[in-house]
Formats: sequence, structure tokens, C-alpha cells
Amino acid sequence: MHDRAWWESLWSWEAFAVYLGWYFWCVVCAIALPGKEVDGAELRNGKRLKYTMNAFSTAILTLAMIGAWTFKFGPGALLYIPHHWAQLVSAAFAWSTFLATFVFFQSYMGEQMLALGGNTDNAFYNWFIGRGLNPRLGDFDIKSFNEMRPGLILWVVFDLAFVAWQYERIGRVTDSMVLTVAFHAWYVLDAEFNEAAILTTMDITTDGFGWMLSAGDLLWVPFTYGYTAFFLALHPKDLGVTGCAGVLAVQLVGYYIFRTSNNEKNEFRLGRNPKNLKSFQTERGTRLLTSGWWGLSQHPNYMGDWIMSWAWCLPCGFQSPLPYFYVIYFGILLFHRQTRDDEACALKYKKDWETYKKLVPYRIIPYVY
Ligand code: NDP
Repeated sequence: MHDRAWWESLWSWEAFAVYLGWYFWCVVCAIALPGKEVDGAELRNGKRLKYTMNAFSTAILTLAMIGAWTFKFGPGALLYIPHHWAQLVSAAFAWSTFLATFVFFQSYMGEQMLALGGNTDNAFYNWFIGRGLNPRLGDFDIKSFNEMRPGLILWVVFDLAFVAWQYERIGRVTDSMVLTVAFHAWYVLDAEFNEAAILTTMDITTDGFGWMLSAGDLLWVPFTYGYTAFFLALHPKDLGVTGCAGVLAVQLVGYYIFRTSNNEKNEFRLGRNPKNLKSFQTERGTRLLTSGWWGLSQHPNYMGDWIMSWAWCLPCGFQSPLPYFYVIYFGILLFHRQTRDDEACALKYKKDWETYKKLVPYRIIPYVY
């Protein structure tokens, strides 16, 4: 009897069904909603895959439906999330593991391009890191779908559930909660709106889709990135006008650097240079920016992203170090990403990369690192 209760708190078929309902809602939106069709980056075989851009409309439709439902019936449905948290974690774990296993076996069927890093003699490693580069079912691209929709949008849905939870516990919603949730939603909607930008990231162009990415997208992102909202539901905090203004200033500075630097590079990669930024020609054929944000450091966009991560945690105050987990984790992620990109660019650009690094010596934060 005791054992049964223990297992039931960790697993329920109902929570699994709710999770699958969410996942397949995202699948239906991806298939049914209209969206611009764009070409992906050039593959090793010189071809390009087509992608339909409708992650933003999926997010807006989902949030509008949740808003309408909550307005009419109250936040009870959202409270299902914090009240069944552990069971939902198990459900996402089970589904992401199934998905990684499915694409692993699928990578042996038909003619599929494999990820260079996921085709070793060790089958377990290949399953973990991802064997297939762009697993698809017909035209449905499994990797880009999982990167942008069922995990990322769920993060915002979870945040809304934590807002409802705080309201259930104390009868109001604090300014700190409003800020942290608004910043998360801003980040996610911005990413969805600029969905095409993901097609040139290393996740899509280089990494296979294995358990690491599947669990990263479906488990890690939604269940950990909203931790500050989870924390504030349990430990409400009022910031007041000055506190809110300070946190907002940090967010705006971070966002400005993040967005303008990403736009500078994306515009440049699309063959446009409205600001007449300096660059140098590489033997590989493309040019590397050496002025503007990209003259200050090799990844100014990472710096902006990291500054924003502070604004998400500061609303929690300083009574506990736990909310700052995200700042530390994200700093490590960006540092690791920078070293991986450095290795990849050294291979791509050969001696030109050394020349570039002499022109732009700082890696992320100018004059610091
Ligand atoms: P970058 O946007 O920095 O892209 C690196 C690539 O850009 C290089 O491989 C190279 O590719 C090109 N590049 C590098 N230097 C130059 C230059 N000087 N001029 C022109 N092109 C250059 O990295 P990511 O793709 O990793 O990140 C994209 C965004 O996503 C970032 O803002 C990052 O912060 C964010 N991100 C967020 C995560 C999250 O969990 N929240 C996780 C990962 C990323 P090539 O030469 O082939 O074009």
C-alpha cells in the first residue's frame, strides 16, 4: 500500500496522457497552421531542406486559448501542473527517451544524412548524442519541431501555472512574479518570432538528434528554465517601483545587446550590410565581421543573453542562492558552446580563424574573457 502511493506520486498514466495531449497539440499546429516556407542551411550534399515557420503562431494560439479558458473557467486547469509536477517530469522523461530511441532506429532505415559526431562504433553513444542529422517523417522535421515548440512554449505555460499557483496560495500576484514571467515569455516569443534564425545554429546544422537534445528540449528546458517562477510561487517577494525599474534596466540592456548583435550577424549572413560593418574575406568564401558588436567580442550575443539571465533571477532577491542556478548553468552552457564553436570554426576557416582571433581577441565579454 505504502509502495503504491510512492510510485503514484512519481508516475501516473493520466499525467502521461496530459503530456502527450500537449505534445500532439503542438504537432497538429505545426502541420495545420499556415507559415512561410524557408530553406535551411546548405547540407553536406549541397541540398537544402524546407521548413515551415509557424512556431510563433502556435505559441500565440496556445496562449490565447489558455487566456480565454482561464478568463471563463478560472485558473483551476493550470493548477494541474504544480499539483502533478513530479508525474509530468516522469512523463516528459519517458517521452523524450522514447523519441530518442525511435529516431535512433529510424536512422538505420532509408537514406538519411547522419551527424558526423554521432556515427561512432559505440551504439549507446550514438543514441545519446544523435545519429541522424535531420530525422524526418515525410516533410515533418522532428529536430527543429522539438527545438522550438513542445518544450519552449511549455516553459511559458508552466510559468503561467506558477502565477496561478502563487495566486492560489496568497490571493494575489507579486510584481517580482510578473517581471520574471514577462521576461521569460518575451524571450520565448522573440525566439519563436525569429524562428528561421535557428536554421543556422549548430543544433540544426551539425548536431544529431539523440537523447541529449531530445531530453534537453523536452525535459530540461521547460522543467528547469522556469524555476524562478516556481520559487516565487513558494516564496513571494515584492520589489516595489525601484526594484522593478532596476531589474527592468538589466533586462533591457541584455536584450538590446542580444538582439542587435544577432541581427547584425543574421543580416550579414543574408548578404546585407546596412551599417557598413568591416569584415574580412576568408578562403572558405564567406566573410567574418570585425566591427560593430562583432568587433568587440567573438560572441557578443552570448554576453547579451547572459545579462538577461541575471534579470530573470534578480526578482527572487538574495535570501536563497537557488534561483541563481540559471545564471550559473547558462554561463557554463555559453562557455561550453563558445569552445565548441571555436573548434568548429578553426576547422571551417583554418588559418583565417587564427587571423580573425588576433583581430577580435575577446571571446564573450570584452576586456574580461
Ligand atoms: P552564434 O550566433 O555566435 O553563431 C556562431 C556562428 O556564427 C559561427 O559558427 C560562424 O558560422 C558565425 N560567425 C562567427 N563569428 C562571426 C563573425 N565575426 N562574422 C560573421 N559570422 C560569424 O552562436 P549560436 O548559434 O550558438 O547562438 C545563437 C544565439 O542563440 C545566441 O544569441 C545564443 O545566446 C542563443 N542561444 C541560447 C540558448 C538557450 O538555451 N537560451 C542555447 C544556445 C544558444 P558561419 O561562419 O558558418 O556562418
